[in-house]
Amino acid sequence: MYEFLSLRVKCPICNELLMDEEHLVDNEASIKLNIEMGDKTGTIFLSSIYGSYNYICDIDLPSGGVASFICTHCHAQITSQVECLTCGASMVPFYLEMGGKVAICSRAGCKNHAVEFTDLSDALKRLYQEYGFRGRNYPKPEERPVIKAEKKEDEFKEIIESGTLLQTYCPHCLKSLIEDDMIKLDITNENNEEGVVMLSPYLNVFTSKSTVFLKEHETLKDLKCPHCHKSLKMEEKHCDWCGSPIAKINITARTKFIDFYICTKKGCRWHGLSDDDLYDIKIEDSLEW
Ligand SMILES: [Zn+2]
Ligand SMILES: [Zn+2]
Ligand SMILES: [Zn+2]
Ligand SMILES: [Zn+2]
Repeated sequence: MYEFLSLRVKCPICNELLMDEEHLVDNEASIKLNIEMGDKTGTIFLSSIYGSYNYICDIDLPSGGVASFICTHCHAQITSQVECLTCGASMVPFYLEMGGKVAICSRAGCKNHAVEFTDLSDALKRLYQEYGFRGRNYPKPEERPVIKAEKKEDEFKEIIESGTLLQTYCPHCLKSLIEDDMIKLDITNENNEEGVVMLSPYLNVFTSKSTVFLKEHETLKDLKCPHCHKSLKMEEKHCDWCGSPIAKINITARTKFIDFYICTKKGCRWHGLSDDDLYDIKIEDSLEW
């Protein structure tokens, strides 16, 4: 239900909030910490999306290395006696703003993490208050705009409003790309690792997560349909904002399938329609959510 849950965490020592609203990872506020690995020190911004392992870091974190995480407020190392059940490295605990704890493994590349709520019914109540059933950024179903036609002088122009659930299909096999309320696509990252990226299906909601590490501001090597495995990338077309290659998916408008383009660069919020459709369809501009 809470597929794109963004967790707000605090230092367990000084209780200060560790969220950074300026450095977005997976298009949400990140968790900012100082980090040490070997003889290098730096700053890391971890994804706050539950189940995402993406981050931005100014030092290299070789897979398998164990890092120390240091609070940017009290400068204490955040660590515990608890060992990771997967790899034996120490777990790094944080308090959740909504109550409870989350812990991550200190070894780069280890995906073990644990969330504990001190009072589950209390946490669920707060989750519901903050997120509703669909997540914080999603309009409530009854408020969700529907695609509507607007009569303007003597032409009909269809406007797809922000927050509209985009029914999304593969342009090759026409199968739906939506599963569990997310757009799911097969991807290849710059290290040739294959995984799945999950995108919000709501227009102008840009939250995402992935099963393999995706560096912010890097271009995906490939995006494929999970059904027919054909590539969705269009080498000949480029993003209007950043120049990266774009990918094509189909969405349903009021009367027909239309081409919908998304940028392949992580974090880029550009999207567009084909020139043919621009005449009778308009997508509402991104709002700050
Ligand atoms: Zn602290
Ligand atoms: Zn581990
Ligand atoms: Zn397909
Ligand atoms: Zn772009």
